[in-house]
Amino acid sequence: MSTDISGLIEAARQGDWSPLIRESEKVPGKHWAESAHCANWNTDLFVPTGDGPHEDPEEVKNSLGGSLNKPLKLCASCPVAVAARCLVDSLQQNDEFSIRAGLLASERAVLRAAWQQRADETAVAGALRGATTALSKVEREEVVARFATDPSLSPAAVARGLGVTHEYLLKLAWRYRKRFAAAVTSPVGSTEAA
Ligand code: SF4
Repeated sequence: MSTDISGLIEAARQGDWSPLIRESEKVPGKHWAESAHCANWNTDLFVPTGDGPHEDPEEVKNSLGGSLNKPLKLCASCPVAVAARCLVDSLQQNDEFSIRAGLLASERAVLRAAWQQRADETAVAGALRGATTALSKVEREEVVARFATDPSLSPAAVARGLGVTHEYLLKLAWRYRKRFAAAVTSPVGSTEAA
């Protein structure tokens, strides 16, 4: 398996997120960014004007030219695990802007959309057992749905898997059951009585 960040990104583009996530998990903890190579640089350098989720990456590169050299060079020299964590973090937060792991915001747009729709059964099953791993929006919703409908699951494990408190998990489950009950009593196509 390639440990080069571009190899991990390419695998993710092909639908295989596991190598990127495994690499990102090598730098757990809240302070991972302290070992980032951009740590002491002005963050503006990583948010170039004119780059954004709806721009064409090639046009952005042509128009910004050499001003991208510094941030891209810093990303290229960043430890692979830190760059992987940086990218996964941006995907989890659905961060639309800024350069991450050497990718412009415009280059990350497709990857962001794919991440949001990612549905990996292994990740869902792991979270239900209490494993802390990066989950997409779809996977988080699936974990809540299964917890809300399966009383045999451990609240402590699922809360750990989702990275939320026990109380918040119970609130999510309650909201899910409420939505589900509303959907059952209001079938598609039905009209409300006058
Ligand atoms: S990959 Fe780039 S943006 Fe991310 S932490 Fe490293 S230097 Fe900073």
